[in-house]
Order: sequence, then C-alpha cells, then structure tokens
Amino acid sequence: MSTEATILHADLDSFYASVEQLLNPDLRGKAMAVGGGVVLAASYEAKAFGVRGGMSGRKARELCPHLLFVRGNFDQYQRLGDAAIAVLEDYTPLIERISIDEAFADVAGCTHLFGSPREIAETVRRRVRDELGLPISVGVARTKHLAKVASQVAKPDGLVVVNPATELDFLHDLPVGLMWGVGPVTEGKLKAEGILTIGQLANTPGRSLRGLLGDAAGEKLSDLAWNRDTRAIVREHRARSAGAQSALGRQPATEAVFKPVLQHLADRVTSRLRAKSLAGRTITVRVRFADMRAVTRAMTLDAPVSATLIVAEIAEELVRQALADHPKERTISLLAVSVSHIEEQRQIQLELSLGLDDEKRRPGSRQGCRPLVGRPRHGQGPHSLRPRLHRLRRRPPRAQKLRPRRFSRAGRKGPWPELAGTGKQSLVLFCPLVVSPMPRNPRQKA
Ligand SMILES: [Mg+2]
Repeated sequence: MSTEATILHADLDSFYASVEQLLNPDLRGKAMAVGGGVVLAASYEAKAFGVRGGMSGRKARELCPHLLFVRGNFDQYQRLGDAAIAVLEDYTPLIERISIDEAFADVAGCTHLFGSPREIAETVRRRVRDELGLPISVGVARTKHLAKVASQVAKPDGLVVVNPATELDFLHDLPVGLMWGVGPVTEGKLKAEGILTIGQLANTPGRSLRGLLGDAAGEKLSDLAWNRDTRAIVREHRARSAGAQSALGRQPATEAVFKPVLQHLADRVTSRLRAKSLAGRTITVRVRFADMRAVTRAMTLDAPVSATLIVAEIAEELVRQALADHPKERTISLLAVSVSHIEEQRQIQLELSLGLDDEKRRPGSRQGCRPLVGRPRHGQGPHSLRPRLHRLRRRPPRAQKLRPRRFSRAGRKGPWPELAGTGKQSLVLFCPLVVSPMPRNPRQKA
C-alpha cells in the first residue's frame, strides 16, 4: 500500500440533474429531478427537501410540491460523462471508471509532470468546470476507499485531500453511512447497535461485526474502517453484464405491451444475478422500433440491485422516456434489459432500501424477489436465496450441494420447505447478534 495520498476519486455532482441544468438555463437554481415515476436524479435544490434518487415520483412531490420533473437526455449524459473522464486521462493512464460519472485515478507516476496530487485535482476540477460547465468533486487519499469517502465529504463541488498522517482522525469522525459498501440497511443495523461513526465501527470487536453483518462484510468493513484497503486501480474494468431480450414482432408501443415484457425480462436477468449472488448498478434498456432502428437508455444507481421489482420499474421508466423522445414511433419490435457494473452481493439483496413509499413490497420483503410473471424457476423467487444459504453456514458444503427442486406450495410448512428434513433449517434462520459495548479509547486498534 502506498504511503502517499496519490489516489483521486472524481465524482460529478448530481450528474443527471447538473446536465439538465446546464442544457436548460431555466432549470438552474430550481428544485428539479430527472425521471417521472421514479426519481433518477435530483438537483441539490431538490435534495435540500429530502428528494433522493430511486425515490418514487409521488413521494418526491410530497416532499417538494414545486419539484420540476424533466425527461432524461441520456445521450448527453454519456457524452459529458465521457468528456469529464477524458480530462482525467490527460494526467494519468491509470484510470478506473466505475460508473458514468465516477472514476478513480492514480497519479503517483505523473506528479513530476503535473505537480502534487492536490494540484492535479484542482486542475481537473477547474477544467471540468470551464470546459464542460459541470461541478465535480474530488477526494484524494492513500487508498481507494478513503478517496471515495473524501469525495463524498467534498460534495458539493469541492476538493478534500486526506493527509496520510491524520487519515484515521479524518475517517473515524465520519458517519458509517459514508463508507463504501454501507447501504441504508447495513447503516440501519449498525445504528440499532449504537454504531454511528466509522470510528465506533473500527472499535467494535470483529466477532460482533461478523455476527451482525456476516463474515465477509464484517471483516471487509472492519478493514476499511482502519483504512486497510489494498485494492489497486483496475484499468481494464471487466465489463460484466447480464441481459435478456425479447423479440416482439410488431407490437404497439403502449404500456400494456411493454410493461409485462419488461417485467418478464427483469425477472430473467435478476434471477440469474441472484443465483450467483451478484447485483449491478447500471440498468440499460434497448427499444427497437418497427424499422429496426434501436435506442438505448441507461441509468446508474448509487447501490447495486438485483431485485426484480426495482429493475423492472426502472426499465419501465427508461422505456417510457425512450418512447417519449420518439413520439412518432408507434410500433416496437424488440425490448432488451441488461444490468451491468456487476459486483458480488454477499448480503441478501432484499435489504437494499431506496426509501420508497411502497417499501414493504420491495427488497426487504421476500416479495421483492418474487417473479412478476410466469412460473417461478430455479434462481428466482424465494428459491433464489438458496445459493446464499450456503454462505450462512459455518463450513461451506462440498459434497452436499443443494439441487434445484420444483417450486411447490403444497405441504408448505415453513419459509424454506425445500430444506425441511435436511437438518439445515437452523442454519438459515439463525444469525447470532451480539455487539459488545464500545471501548473507551477511540484510537484503540481492533
Ligand atoms: Mg456522481
């Protein structure tokens, strides 16, 4: 691990909303959001009212009655996102782009050419502002995790350079929610145990954390809380994605046609992801019209998802936008849904909370993973949790692999009928939860 702070994390602020405000001066300084049924992005003026990406449009209007909604300009988002990353590429080839508007850069090898990491970060911010008209926040630190945390602290439109000598002082005072990998549900769990800051998390005994969050997540967060992050910049980010498409012949471009198809496609894609304990942050739809011309729309979320309902709803919203942008197209011939920016999701995906008003039927309830159409298959519905059950066991099974069985409600006794009589139920439903009191000294090593 480097001893100097040379890793930059650059993140465009409220990206989709900033682009809209850039393209349409009437929107500047106003509470506005991109989306409709679902908020895809909100301006800082709207965020002040509590409006957040992923929230339903109805809830957003409740929070901010004068909120303006605009349809997305996805081609422009891609163009401007690429242009901002290209500015970084002028300084170092060591770039790892992690989404449309976010990238890591390691400038260790180019400081003799362009100045200190702070100077490079300042130049990048100024150039993105001058050349593209967009605000970008940059965090500079010794590790990727700390650089990402620093860029969140720098928002809006700021720069934070973390001095390696005092990095734990900086990190430990921050709320746990800023950690990479702590979503709303993990944050809620930690809060319930009185763990509010990264310092408190760092000083929570490893055993308690593992009991609370699972072995892998507990260990990982404990490491990150002490800024132990050995991940290097990965230049060739392997573009992994999962997708499904459906040729429709010639169908009218109406909600009644595309909605069930998208739900079906979302089911297929997300069930495959869940079966492999994966989740993705970018949801892309492709709509092909009768003349075989196709348009693509995508959105990137803050956190990875694999729940059918969320992917289906976002896909629907994206298709609505694509159709609204092409009002003359009355017929569609193909729909495709894919999920990319995939990462491993060891914790059960059901838990991601997007703060939506219909939370109960979303991840967090088992219904979030139920197939929306058609018969359940292996890897979806409640069965989709099965691969994860392996992970909850103390020792991973080798020979005794659980095989997919037919879904049957008949004779259903408990939540996991397929495990009845196998002696495995207790492993599924029991998760010890013990957190010891905080040690007094906040700097005490774990
Ligand atoms: Mg951003």
